[in-house]
Amino acid sequence: MLTLPVFEWVSPTSLDGVLRELAARPGECLLVAGGTDAVPNLKHRLHEPKRVVSLAGVAELRAAREDDAGLHLGARLTLTELSRLPALKRDFPAVAHAASLVASPQIRNMGTLGGNLCLDTRCTYYNQTYLWREAVGFCLKKDGTVCHVVPQGRRCVAAHSSDVAPALIAYGAEVEIAGPEGRRLVSCDQFFVGDGIHNNILKSDELVTRVLLPAAARGQHGAYRKLRPRGAIDFPMLSVAVAVRGDAKRLESARIVVSALGAKPRLLGGLDALVAGKAADETTFAAVAAAAHKQCRPLTNVPYDDDWRHAMVPVFVTRALRDVFGVSA
Ligand SMILES: Cc1cc2nc3c(=O)[nH]c(=O)nc-3n(C[C@H](O)[C@H](O)[C@H](O)COP(=O)(O)OP(=O)(O)OC[C@H]3O[C@@H](n4cnc5c(N)ncnc54)[C@H](O)[C@@H]3O)c2cc1C
Ligand code: SF4
Repeated sequence: MLTLPVFEWVSPTSLDGVLRELAARPGECLLVAGGTDAVPNLKHRLHEPKRVVSLAGVAELRAAREDDAGLHLGARLTLTELSRLPALKRDFPAVAHAASLVASPQIRNMGTLGGNLCLDTRCTYYNQTYLWREAVGFCLKKDGTVCHVVPQGRRCVAAHSSDVAPALIAYGAEVEIAGPEGRRLVSCDQFFVGDGIHNNILKSDELVTRVLLPAAARGQHGAYRKLRPRGAIDFPMLSVAVAVRGDAKRLESARIVVSALGAKPRLLGGLDALVAGKAADETTFAAVAAAAHKQCRPLTNVPYDDDWRHAMVPVFVTRALRDVFGVSA
């Protein structure tokens, strides 16, 4: 049986209380929201905090509201709540759909938006017991000095594995971060960085409080597709989120995010030139799918063949585009 390590547990009831706890023990705390990722990682000794700071008592992180700026989603909304939120399903359906595809119902009932955004990256050589990792000499991300995926590399390339984040990036969402200096909004795309050891810009005394889906992004057509071994529970081995402006006869622009390959979701470049003024047909979809294939490079960071995942990129981009326009093939 895997046991938890020894740590102190605190459960503040306000955001200020959380910030005080983080500031009191710099770099020694681990935030826990639903615990669906953090707790297994604690058992594997992937996190070894002195203090665990629970967000479960912070009611102000549970709000969802709409105003002129857009749709605001509190970090502690659960994935089940997101998947059922009427305003989200109406205006940003790819986000609600992505939330509905995370893991299993029990995990979605516990797992939160903030935890999904800040989900630790995943790798064959990392998501293992301490004994397993010790047997291969650990790795750069935790306790070791080399990367087993890219042995000559200096950075961790473990896979970003959140389902919700790619959909948020496709719609141009922003993430609110709270810290000792106050609150700031950053684009969800810029929230992530390409180093799997810590793949976001949060400092140790900060947390995610809210996500804003901007009003200007309403009215886009969206879709989310996920490739995984078992449809009932698994993490993505490839994910594609699409947000398109225009109608089927005349497209205006497209934002497509491909993820679960490297440490940061990839927002594809150069797509507007391929879609602007074009019809939503198989010729346009094929051009976009080819661009996606060229821009994405899966690695052997998860236990599925990287060449096959690469071959699936254009397939899943095409399927997501067909979903957007209700085309069957
Ligand atoms: C069997 C299994 C299958 C899974 N499948 C999927 C899947 O298919 N897709 C997927 O996306 N995820 C999957 N997960 C991972 C996880 O369940 C979800 O990502 C969930 O949304 C995590 O949310 P949580 O609230 O439980 O996060 P926690 O476990 O509480 O925290 C996760 C991380 O986020 C940090 N954190 C939490 N909240 C905040 C905050 N507000 N600000 C800053 N940091 C914060 C924590 O410190 C921790 O590092 C799976 C997990 C399991 C166990
Ligand atoms: S990508 Fe390399 S450094 Fe990162 S977890 Fe995997 S083996 Fe470790």
